Amino acid sequence: MFPALALVLLTAAPAGASREGGVVRLAQRNGGVIGVVTTSTDLKALVAAVGGERVAVESLAPALHDPHAVEVTPGQLARLKSAALLVRIGLDHEPWLARVRATVKDPRFVPGGPGDLDASREIELLQSATPRVRSEREVHVHGFGNPHYWLDPANARPMTQTILDALARLSPGDREAFARNRARFLERLDAGIARWTEVMAPYRGARVVVFHDGWPYFAHRFGLAVVATVEPAPGIPPSPSSLAALITRMKEAGVRLVVVEPSSSLSIANQVAARSGARLVTLIPSVGGDPEAGDYPALFEVNVRRIVDALRGAP
Ligand SMILES: [Zn+2]
Repeated sequence: MFPALALVLLTAAPAGASREGGVVRLAQRNGGVIGVVTTSTDLKALVAAVGGERVAVESLAPALHDPHAVEVTPGQLARLKSAALLVRIGLDHEPWLARVRATVKDPRFVPGGPGDLDASREIELLQSATPRVRSEREVHVHGFGNPHYWLDPANARPMTQTILDALARLSPGDREAFARNRARFLERLDAGIARWTEVMAPYRGARVVVFHDGWPYFAHRFGLAVVATVEPAPGIPPSPSSLAALITRMKEAGVRLVVVEPSSSLSIANQVAARSGARLVTLIPSVGGDPEAGDYPALFEVNVRRIVDALRGAP
């Protein structure tokens, strides 16, 4: 909701003000806020961390969702139309966004448009050389590199820089405030990264299997070895034969943990655990996906604790 911005528009927009720049300049002059819409709760958390009180931000997708079944409400579409910025993960992470763009029909939000911000811009992607599994557009198959890059907390540094630059372009007078907010946020996050790295250190090299291939950045940061995925390709459930091959591989490799998410198929996950002897651990893929993961640092606090608890207890 952007009540302050709406009020500013109603009361102060002069006839003929350009829609793109005018909204934000007016909002700024009148002490309003910058309307930002994100495609994920993680991006929402990072925008809020940098923008502070100067932004009103909401996520189009809930914390836990199937990337092919995100329903955007008319109210959210209206708020996107009045927003100054759309921040997204990019790559093929948001197949549902094409439909939103077609409905909104706003040239500012086309890829590369003045109101479009691809947060992956400065990220060093993993798996970017993986041959494409399928070549259809608008499908979440990790076809351009793995898109789950927000799960390395160190990637918040380039992501918040990209966000800061975009917000400061919209509201140049706030650049210093945004920079202060970001510095404060990164200070807290860096302290967290140091702590999480330390508690994960004894488990460096621990072999895990993941249900969906959403954890390579997290694993890379904290020294876990992802041996295999339960889904043979992103979004594809395993066949009985691929499941059998997975179990054999897990036993050979001595895999101790299977990382599942709240949205993973529990019947398949339980089968994998029962047949392999490995333990299931549920990690939270996004801010708000669990009551304990209320903000970006808390997301890692929860996930690191769960991994450590599971590995401590694992045979
Ligand atoms: Zn994915």
